Amino acid sequence: MKQNAVILSTLLALTIFTEDAGAQKRGGNDYLNNCIEKQVDPLQRAYLQLTYRESENNLYHSSEPWQTAHYDRRGRVSCSRERFFREDTISQKERNFATHIQYSPTELLKRPYWSEQIGNATQNQLVEYPLSIAYYSPIPLLDYAQSRKVTPDKDSDPHFAIYSLKVGESTVRLYVGKSDRLLQKVTKSWNDGMLGDMTETFIYTNFTTLKGLHYPQSIEVVKVHNIRDTVHISSANIVQKISPLLEKPEDYTVEDKGEEIPELHVEKLSEHLYGLNLPQAESRAILVEFKDFLMVVDVPFNSENGDLVLREAEKIAPGKPVRYFAFCHHHPWYLGGVRPFIHRGATVICTEENLDYVRFLATAPHTIEPDSLQLNPSPLIAELVDSIMTISDGEYEVKICHIGKTSAHTSDYLIFYFPLEKIVVQGDLAWIPTEAPITKAGPRQVGLYNGIKEFGLEVETILQTWPISEEPKVKSAFPFSDLEESIHLTEESH
Ligand SMILES: [Zn+2]
Repeated sequence: MKQNAVILSTLLALTIFTEDAGAQKRGGNDYLNNCIEKQVDPLQRAYLQLTYRESENNLYHSSEPWQTAHYDRRGRVSCSRERFFREDTISQKERNFATHIQYSPTELLKRPYWSEQIGNATQNQLVEYPLSIAYYSPIPLLDYAQSRKVTPDKDSDPHFAIYSLKVGESTVRLYVGKSDRLLQKVTKSWNDGMLGDMTETFIYTNFTTLKGLHYPQSIEVVKVHNIRDTVHISSANIVQKISPLLEKPEDYTVEDKGEEIPELHVEKLSEHLYGLNLPQAESRAILVEFKDFLMVVDVPFNSENGDLVLREAEKIAPGKPVRYFAFCHHHPWYLGGVRPFIHRGATVICTEENLDYVRFLATAPHTIEPDSLQLNPSPLIAELVDSIMTISDGEYEVKICHIGKTSAHTSDYLIFYFPLEKIVVQGDLAWIPTEAPITKAGPRQVGLYNGIKEFGLEVETILQTWPISEEPKVKSAFPFSDLEESIHLTEESH
């Protein structure tokens, strides 16, 4: 007995003083548990508090595809196994903008710098939030993985033990180094309705220790199109308690959005033109009926909307093929539904500025949620508009005008002119209030007016494909005189 006790105490001492080696021996090939023993357990119930600098690059509604907006943030995060607090600041033109975030598994409170309000969260945002925290620290993600009792994948490679798990709608892979038993890499994969299979890779380097806790000081996140963010940790602390940053509003709720059933409402606009309204996207597609073919303009977000529009087109004009798909510019509200049209062999009307982007969309893998083009690939058939293109059946016609940068929005901008009805269809250039008096035109609205004048179009009515909802209260169809009035107001104020 006595001898056993001595052995036991020696073992304990060994475990304490040679923690790393001990953990590895104890765990054998239990890499994830060994990793948690190094990167989570020493924290116990306390918080790891990190001061950081972050360089963030995001896609935005840019003038040309793939342009990014850059933000430099600095701030502090505090992270326990299950809770997270973030205070950060963006400095621009000598002004500071602060964002506060507070998370626990049952609530996510955010006060972004552009708002005084703390908004509601959705159930899926809550479940996936440990992935957002992984930008700074993988502690809650590791804790979550442990609670799911994940086992290593069979195809683990020589350097990493790889663990796969679902976090909300994302598939996550944890790469634990076999020699150092540290979480070196995380990938997150999900489906984007327009871009298809998406993967973000978090790369953790420059590990150090604080009171036995191992944590990375450099985090790099590689996103779609090789766009990268970096986070550098400048100092760390372990603290026992954190005072709340935000107070939960009384009417705060966590919304469970469930499955949205997409709707489509048809609005006949003329003998040849139909509005196919998609309220879930706050957008509409325009169906143009020619003698023996159809053309579709603007389908938002995803292939599901594309399929919906194709089914409706078949009901409206049975047997007529959709020969052309066109979109006013490359933003998701107008181009996102293109793939089912490529699958059907429609010609996609492009400009030089967006042809490569459309090629990318046409071949982007959609294996996570396969659409018709993924299941039955067809080549992209594209036709380029230089300045103006006419599509006609000999009687009825549309003139597609490349107004480009004149739009003050994107360099690929097209507007669609239907001479018979004297209608112009465009995406998102005007802001004519439904109830209030007309106000002076902003740059895009001026751009629409100039574009119409440049091409010498005689216009009576303008149709806009986004937004179409009641809020904000702007018109999605208005007489040309409304546009003229707003231009006169602008000219008068100069
Ligand atoms: Zn746009």
